[in-house]
Amino acid sequence: MQPRGGSISGINGNMVSVRFDGTVRQSEVAFIHSGEGRLKAEVVRVRGEIADLQIFEDSRGLKVGGRVEFTGDLLSVELGPGLLGSIFDGLQNPLESMVGSFGNFLEGGRIIAPLSRKARWSFAPAVKKGDRLSGGDTLGTVKEGIFDHLIMVPFDVKDQMEVAEIKGAGEYGIDERMAFLVGEDGKEREVAMSFRWPVKRPIMAYEERLAARERLLTRIRIIDTLFPVGLGGTYCIPGPFGAGKTVLQQITSRNAMVDVVVIAACGERAGEVVETIREFPKLLDGDTGRPLMERTIIVCNTSSMPVAARESSVYTAVTMAEYYRQMGLNVLLLADSTSRWAQAMRERSGRLEEIPGEEAFPAYLESVIADFYERAGLVRLKDGGHGSVTIGGTISPAGGFFEEPVTQATLKVAGAFHGLSRERSDARRFPAIDPLQSWSRYDGIIDRKEREWILAFLRKGNEIEQMMKVVGEEGTSLDDYLTYLKGELFDGVYLQQNAFHEIDVATPEERQVYLYNLVRGVMKSSLDMSAKEEAKSFFFSLRQLFLDLNFAGWESDEFSKLEGAIGDMMREGSKEEEWEFNIDESFVETRENSKRWRGKRPRPPVVEEEEDEGGDGEEGI
Ligand code: ADP
Ligand code: MG
Repeated sequence: MQPRGGSISGINGNMVSVRFDGTVRQSEVAFIHSGEGRLKAEVVRVRGEIADLQIFEDSRGLKVGGRVEFTGDLLSVELGPGLLGSIFDGLQNPLESMVGSFGNFLEGGRIIAPLSRKARWSFAPAVKKGDRLSGGDTLGTVKEGIFDHLIMVPFDVKDQMEVAEIKGAGEYGIDERMAFLVGEDGKEREVAMSFRWPVKRPIMAYEERLAARERLLTRIRIIDTLFPVGLGGTYCIPGPFGAGKTVLQQITSRNAMVDVVVIAACGERAGEVVETIREFPKLLDGDTGRPLMERTIIVCNTSSMPVAARESSVYTAVTMAEYYRQMGLNVLLLADSTSRWAQAMRERSGRLEEIPGEEAFPAYLESVIADFYERAGLVRLKDGGHGSVTIGGTISPAGGFFEEPVTQATLKVAGAFHGLSRERSDARRFPAIDPLQSWSRYDGIIDRKEREWILAFLRKGNEIEQMMKVVGEEGTSLDDYLTYLKGELFDGVYLQQNAFHEIDVATPEERQVYLYNLVRGVMKSSLDMSAKEEAKSFFFSLRQLFLDLNFAGWESDEFSKLEGAIGDMMREGSKEEEWEFNIDESFVETRENSKRWRGKRPRPPVVEEEEDEGGDGEEGI
């Protein structure tokens, strides 16, 4: 495209109006000349011969009449080896390599390459001269930490092209020409190890999108058992400040069964994002004990950053997530908090003087949120493999009320809802996901009938508790009191999970099935209690045994001892002569493939595997 120009006709904060010649595209990138250099900006609206541009940086030194250059390129990110382990701002500027302290992150017009120009990658070709390829096909691989990073034909190559030239095995930098492709029509294309992709355009170089049928195990019991997340699905976590959104995000990142984690940290205050940047590099993979950062990318922004950088952060994050999905990896994108992102949208809309919708959010808020979550998905790739992007977004509604536009818009598109409650976090019932408010459309490790049964039980227990607050314990029947105690037991030992205990923090599927069974046995038993006092102390002791069990190593001696002690208590306390703990798996949702670890990250050695050897793909502990 010819370079086209224009001149500034109006300035309003970081929004400028530009009178242009020729044509200008929505969302194209432009450079604005100021006294201090070139400022990067994006076209956010075109009306007649005036374009409204949003500047990504500090907008000092601008004057009416100033010169503007349009590039014809859409806002895009660089994709290639070296993204893992990086921390970027919303425009993919690497934060670590930036001179100056955090906060002073962008100086007028300075543009830093997202990927290192110094790094050398050891390339192994996967194609030969004469092979025919199109976008997304693999040219070769490089080792990026623990993964084989696929060097792919750029995704915009729609038609087959012939490999006219391909580099042999060796060490290369990311800008070098690795392959030369020629199309049937004679079109030529040079391919390097990296290329750019527009952030607002979903990457779709795959065969087909599949329904999120398989669950994504998080090893958080309340999630996997009651409100599961689908692999390639979406979920949202609304919750007031301090309810545990950030802790939940950290334990999910460490223990969820995915390969790559992308964090979009949109901070309420700069301090929170700094905390993420400081904390994440210290976190360890729950399975391997290796640094989590080797399979993580962080994109962060704070309210002190320009509105455009804040707005683009989630797109930058999801584009990188989609890129790794193309390599057959399972990627989890966690956006914390999407409310800050929506606020950036609101600010921009306000500056554009658009007709506001509810609570001054733009009228198109819903469709923008829907389009973002729509980018999640499990896909079948061209080579027959699978990859997925799962999106979880937290929301921080003012005052914790879910009746606000961002929560409501997200609820319409999310596949699961994990509502955090202030009441539960105040009572330190963590994770503070409210079992009576949350839901999920995905299949968990117990089937739907069983899920309904246990939720109905919890509801009943809660009703009795509320009633008791009015009529007192004396006014409550022994039967009701027992139901209440059983509900409390399930809450205390199953739904609550200690994020700071090395064993309790993550419960593998097999252990969840076991524990669920054991508690369920107690809940289904008829107990032989003569008075509430007796029942109360019985459950108090039982609860303690279960808590100890949760802290014991799976199938350790301690574990068997506690299991035995629970059995003894139950035989004594129940009406049945013989309280037998049987593994009843009739209600367990059996999906052969869900037991398999399909990702590509290295797994710890399997401890014990009775049936088949070569348990490489099986779940370890
Ligand atoms: P938010 O991000 O919602 O503002 P945080 O994730 O920072 O809240 O949690 C606030 C505090 O609550 C934490 O510092 C921690 O003490 C406690 N907390 C949250 N989640 C858990 C958990 N799963 N287990 C134990 N403590 C938790
Ligand atoms: Mg937080």
